[in-house]
Amino acid sequence: MPPLTCFNYINGQWVPAKVRETSQSRNPANSSEVVATFPLSTSADVNAAVEAARKAYLSWRKIPAPQRAEYLQRVAQILTKRKEELATVMTREMGKTIAEARGDVQEGIDCAFYYAGEGRRLFGQTTPSELSNKFAMTLRMPVGVCALITPWNFPVAIPCWKSLPALVCGNTIILKPAKDTPACATLLVEVFQQAGFPPGVVNLVHGVGPEIGQDLVEHPGIDLVSFTGSSVIGSQVGEICGRIHKRVCLELGGKNAQIVMEDADLELALEGALWGAFGTTGQRCTATSRLILHRDIKKEFTEKLLEKTAQLRLGPGIDPKTDVGPLISSTQREKVKKYIDLAREEGAKILLGGDIPKDSALKSGFFFEPTILDHVTPQMRVAQEEIFGPVVGLIEVSSFEEAISVLNDTPYGLSSSIYTQDINRAFQAMQDLEAGITYINGPTIGAEVHLAFGGVKQSGNGHREAGTTALDVFSEWKTVYVDF
Ligand code: NAP
Repeated sequence: MPPLTCFNYINGQWVPAKVRETSQSRNPANSSEVVATFPLSTSADVNAAVEAARKAYLSWRKIPAPQRAEYLQRVAQILTKRKEELATVMTREMGKTIAEARGDVQEGIDCAFYYAGEGRRLFGQTTPSELSNKFAMTLRMPVGVCALITPWNFPVAIPCWKSLPALVCGNTIILKPAKDTPACATLLVEVFQQAGFPPGVVNLVHGVGPEIGQDLVEHPGIDLVSFTGSSVIGSQVGEICGRIHKRVCLELGGKNAQIVMEDADLELALEGALWGAFGTTGQRCTATSRLILHRDIKKEFTEKLLEKTAQLRLGPGIDPKTDVGPLISSTQREKVKKYIDLAREEGAKILLGGDIPKDSALKSGFFFEPTILDHVTPQMRVAQEEIFGPVVGLIEVSSFEEAISVLNDTPYGLSSSIYTQDINRAFQAMQDLEAGITYINGPTIGAEVHLAFGGVKQSGNGHREAGTTALDVFSEWKTVYVDF
């Protein structure tokens, strides 16, 4: 397939960047294959997008929300028609398996239908006033022009999680996708174009994060930054926004754990651990990177996990038989490799994997063996820092209380899971686990678009995406008093 030539989308037109430098995205399963070329935009392109979005905002905000919702309805319908096309490109550009890529696009579709519905429900409140002859109410108002800065690991779902609630609330948007997935972003914005949004309501600027990403964050014409990515970059973005009093929503990294108690259904817990740790090659913010195992079941559970993990098939995501695709880039693979070296130095034992696969059929991609580390202790760096690869550390505990304490003892707090058949422990864990999301008898992965998504501690800044909670990010409350 020839590479896709990506352009910026500004004011309803596909335009090259003002300086015509380009870069490429490559297939991580076969790095010699160029998937797309994209412009390395500059501040001049950002300025043009901001100008278009500001102008469009003046009229878009005045369109009644149920009418704005009709555009989202069309996005849902067109995405449904183009699902397979987008999923196939995603698999080539980002490496996830075709089944996962379909799931990624489906999240976008679900999101579009869901927020189209919200267009008829942007509820405020009417409340009694303290005074007679006074009426009081609250209204949701749009925020303005929103910069949406997104990662590569959910290249359709995450831009949809941000853009659709932003648009239905009456904001205009500028999407800055990750440099690794420009084709996915381009096809998604093509869908928005087909849905017929007025010029300037939806804009796309390709380029590099520290350059145009930062330009967007600092730009006085941007009212809100919604950022999903690493905690390191997220805290830089948060600092800048704090300094210039800009509204900012940060969805950041995780160091998620699954607890398996001695009374758990082990087969169920095993299935959860396998897909939580190695699904999407461990490149999910909610991936299971620690398994906290009660000592009574640790030996049996570990043996079964080793057996199942060894059967996972590595390969290009497009092959339906593949279980685990490549990592996104050579840089990411180097990072994972360094963590394995660190694990050894820290005294962990590699039970399985730990290296680049020897299979010559996998030589041209950024593959890494699914890896299980044993003798991991809670304070090791491999148990504290986000690795973002197919690596899981086993930590032994002796009690429920210890399991909870170990799970909580990291700077992150995104997703958490416990497998137990004891309802009292399940309810206790629900309250005591310091995480934005807790699964009881389910893996740490698997969000639904109508429910709040986000984390505590360094996993975010207190906002939530998805569900009606995203409406709180993309709208401002106005209180109105009417004297009569
Ligand atoms: P990243 O390196 O932090 O990049 C995220 C986005 O920020 C990209 O578009 C990137 O552009 C841009 N960027 C980089 N430097 C910037 C700067 N100085 N100013 C403004 N923007 C900048 O993260 P990633 O590697 O793409 O994604 C993986 C991370 O995302 C993991 O930590 C994962 O846990 C997290 N994540 C969190 C969630 C969640 O909902 N909590 C969901 C998915 C992923 P370039 O691509 O051009 O560098």
